[in-house]
Amino acid sequence: MGRIEGKVALVSGGASGLGAAMVRRFAEEGAIVYSGDVNGEMGAAVAADAGATFLTLNVSQEEHWTAAIAKIEQEHGRLDVLVNNAGILGTGPLETIDVNAWNRLFSINVTGVMLGCKHGGMLMQRNPGGASGSIINISSNAGILATAADCGYSATKGAVKLMTQSIAINFARRGLAIRCNSIHPGPIDTPIFEPWKTDHKAAEQLEKQLFEMIPMGRMGKPREIANMALYLASDDSSFSTGAQFVVDGGGTSALAGM
Ligand code: NAD
Repeated sequence: MGRIEGKVALVSGGASGLGAAMVRRFAEEGAIVYSGDVNGEMGAAVAADAGATFLTLNVSQEEHWTAAIAKIEQEHGRLDVLVNNAGILGTGPLETIDVNAWNRLFSINVTGVMLGCKHGGMLMQRNPGGASGSIINISSNAGILATAADCGYSATKGAVKLMTQSIAINFARRGLAIRCNSIHPGPIDTPIFEPWKTDHKAAEQLEKQLFEMIPMGRMGKPREIANMALYLASDDSSFSTGAQFVVDGGGTSALAGM
């Protein structure tokens, strides 16, 4: 308990799945937590249950970030932890890509992360006592290894990995004590897979594919990603920046099927 006591944290996509688990985990460990999401109903319910504050936040809209960060600055005068977690699945394989779907995907998974880093990072630079903070960007195992099945998703998650590294060295070389790292989850049991679950056969096939690619033989739990985020949010990770933290049951270590 108390690993991030008194730190002010903002988690995007906090209404569901990994984000909701982070909102709860951070609050358990003593942080003052803000949860931002486009889903007001679920977001407000999770935040109320966790003792967090809900903000309406569409990560692809710069004015939403300006308003969210202004509210946090007004209420606490600082931001210590930002998790850019909001994200959606993608476009399908190359042959089927619809440009509008591609642009929407990038506006959330890539532009949304950049805007969070920009506006969250600016408040972290104004923190009383000097620049400080930890930015945690949620990429994916698909940001390290590609899937043919979802070209757009891999492209966005690969972009998050290198954006994170660029931002990390920018801050570090300017002598700013703001760290920026990415987490690369493997398959985690969250509502992101719900579209498959309505079709029994597709769900079975997805499950088989997922289990084959995970040497540990199971999907991860949202709390297992929240625990990694907690480590990166805490001062325990003080020498890590620009790094990739893989949490995938061994998936990216294995040659397929071997
Ligand atoms: P989820 O669908 O359960 O939750 C995503 C949340 O993001 C939802 O609450 C949704 O309302 C919110 N959101 C969507 N668009 C938004 C926007 N424009 N602005 C603000 N909020 C928005 O999904 P999840 O599995 O918890 O995924 C969270 C993150 O983890 C995503 O970035 C996803 O790509 C990544 N990820 C998930 C897995 C997995 O297996 N679940 C694996 C690797 C990476």
